[in-house]
Amino acid sequence: MLSNSRVAHQPHDHSRCIHAALARARVLCDENEARLTRIREDVFTLIWQSHRPIGAYQIQDQLAQQWGKRVAPPTVYRAIEFLSVLNLIHRIPSLNAFIGCPFPNSAHSHLFLICENCGSVAEMSHHGVNTLLQTASEKAQFTLQSQCLELFGLCPQCTQNRNTGTSAGPTNA
Ligand SMILES: [Zn+2]
Ligand SMILES: [Zn+2]
Ligand SMILES: [Zn+2]
Repeated sequence: MLSNSRVAHQPHDHSRCIHAALARARVLCDENEARLTRIREDVFTLIWQSHRPIGAYQIQDQLAQQWGKRVAPPTVYRAIEFLSVLNLIHRIPSLNAFIGCPFPNSAHSHLFLICENCGSVAEMSHHGVNTLLQTASEKAQFTLQSQCLELFGLCPQCTQNRNTGTSAGPTNA
């Protein structure tokens, strides 16, 4: 089972996450003979600025601030599309927002643990879940092509805060 829930949901040095994510992105782009252009890299870094999903409009706004000029929406969408195809980022359907993928090179469940209190999202990939969905689909004579599971609840940090009665706001990056 691959999981980044311990990292995503706890206070940590997030600059290390961004650094590692960028390194993975560069390798993956090289392998696919694709270029991590400035716009792609900037959009990617914006999405990785935290473990909370970010919407396309927000990306556009922040990019405009960074660049000091408005960036055409189709340009931003193309960058998002490029990153999605390589599994470097994922769209969380219910939030219509994007999150960086911690293991773009590995088998995927597209299983997201969404904290309803602080908004952080951790991704998990679980072989058992994949097998279960595949088997269930086959039984229904359904050809499974993609999947996305959104689990809603409280992250470890928020669970702990609730149990200890701490009312402090979100602390994790
Ligand atoms: Zn992080
Ligand atoms: Zn992923
Ligand atoms: Zn939380």
